[in-house]
Amino acid sequence: MASYKKLLCIGLALDPIHVGSGGARLGRVELTIVRDPVTRIPKIPGSSLAGVYRTYVAMAEHESNPGRTRPYYPHCAGLGQPKGKDYLGHCAQPDCPVCTVFGFARGKDQAGGFAGLAAFTDAHVLLFPVPTRQGPRWVTCPDALRLVGLEVQGVDQDAVYFGSSQNTPLNLGWLLLPVMSFGQFQNIVQSLQSCGVPSYIYERLALVPDRLFPHIVNSNLEVRTSVAINPATGAAEEQALFSYEALPRGTVLAWEIIAKNPKHFLIGGKEICAVKTPDDVHQKVQVAHPYLEHLGIGGMGTRGMGRLKVLYPSPAAENSVPKKVNCRDSATSTTDSPSGLSESSTGLPEE
Ligand SMILES: [Zn+2]
Repeated sequence: MASYKKLLCIGLALDPIHVGSGGARLGRVELTIVRDPVTRIPKIPGSSLAGVYRTYVAMAEHESNPGRTRPYYPHCAGLGQPKGKDYLGHCAQPDCPVCTVFGFARGKDQAGGFAGLAAFTDAHVLLFPVPTRQGPRWVTCPDALRLVGLEVQGVDQDAVYFGSSQNTPLNLGWLLLPVMSFGQFQNIVQSLQSCGVPSYIYERLALVPDRLFPHIVNSNLEVRTSVAINPATGAAEEQALFSYEALPRGTVLAWEIIAKNPKHFLIGGKEICAVKTPDDVHQKVQVAHPYLEHLGIGGMGTRGMGRLKVLYPSPAAENSVPKKVNCRDSATSTTDSPSGLSESSTGLPEE
């Protein structure tokens, strides 16, 4: 049996998405987002994806297994390190769909921990919406199309490529470019269609060379300015104006989830039984997708940011239905409770 299996995911930003770089910068925008160090194109790091997937899978498992003595949420979500007296950390059981798929930590030196069966790549921009005088256009480039397995040659002029050429140049944001025709354009459209990209996006596709794409993305990000409000006066706080940037609503992102074969690993000397094949791992991670669409990813969630709708794999697919745990010794491990803790302990991690 294969040691691993890859799953391509494609998602549409329903809101602007702000995954902060964790630092303030002097310049046009104070709170910047994470970028690829080479292309300078904003991305969502795999670590951010892994964190939210873990949380949402734990929530879903908690909702479908409400009687578990040691609830999947919050104990198997998050970092799992002991914080506060009621916090237990990760359960680390071979029948736990959260701890087996996402791994768990044990102790300061991480000894006795488990790396997890699912690995997440960074989510990269596949299609980026840009205002033009002909309405919005979703821009892509050969490098971005490689994310969905397309090899595109011959896009090298300083131009925007459509299925057919037109005489008047087109503006992509502030950039004015001649319009050229591209022979394989319809193949690209069909591939995007088979990836679940909606028609209002693939019918407004624009192809540009790799070197122009980062400029077009970075000069068309959403930038917002906020100010802190003084609760006593209800007026703006002095010197508390700040700005932040985000991938705009309508951005299409692509990432991969690599599932390792559970048969190759043991937890505490026992076989993993929460998931038995790489396909099971992919089924488990996909239960997070409806949560991603409603609870979102990244920061500024209280300011209308973050929701990401997964277009591919299709949410209607049968494999999005969570599978029940089928384990020989699950009866002992699911009711297992460390000494001194009663069923009423619902300690949330202390922030
Ligand atoms: Zn667990």
